[in-house]
Amino acid sequence: PLPTVAIVGRPNVGKSTLFNRLVGKKLALVDDRPGVTRDRREGEAELFGLEFRIIDTAGYEDEDPQTLPGRMRKQTEAAVREADVALFLFDSREGITSLDEEIGRWLRVSKTPVVVVGNKAEARSGQAGVLDAYRLGLGDPVAISAEHGEGIAGLFEALLPLL
Ligand code: GDP
Ligand code: MG
Repeated sequence: PLPTVAIVGRPNVGKSTLFNRLVGKKLALVDDRPGVTRDRREGEAELFGLEFRIIDTAGYEDEDPQTLPGRMRKQTEAAVREADVALFLFDSREGITSLDEEIGRWLRVSKTPVVVVGNKAEARSGQAGVLDAYRLGLGDPVAISAEHGEGIAGLFEALLPLL
């Protein structure tokens, strides 16, 4: 079986954009009924010849924001539990928010290895915010732009020893 990578992080940091970039066309929608299962997408990804299964935790769009943290947490925990590696995405333009810190706390107690990824770091503007992630205590953050396809080689280098 392929190793599994889960993309986690608060809404709007670019998880689905990264997922789409990594899977290309081999996308499997697990279930499109309303509810928990619709919240995740799985696909097969290939990165410089390295193949893995990838999980996008997603689908908070239509939900009541009041209930979001609880559902996010459940979904994140379930995905991370079955993953060999978690990619923890944050928005490098905004730096680490309190919700990022909360997710970081769950990830530190989980046994799954984590790669911290500062997304939206295209050009120069986003780079400084990536350094903010050192305070999560989850290792060296990787800077990428999922939308522009930048930093993907650095992501590969961080992922390779963990898969
Ligand atoms: P998700 O909620 O974490 O799945 O985030 P999405 O993938 O839906 O992206 C949220 C927004 O961020 C969308 O408007 C994307 O176009 C934008 N976005 C994603 N990746 C990047 C990036 O690398 N740079 C910039 N500037 N915007 C991005
Ligand atoms: Mg999404």
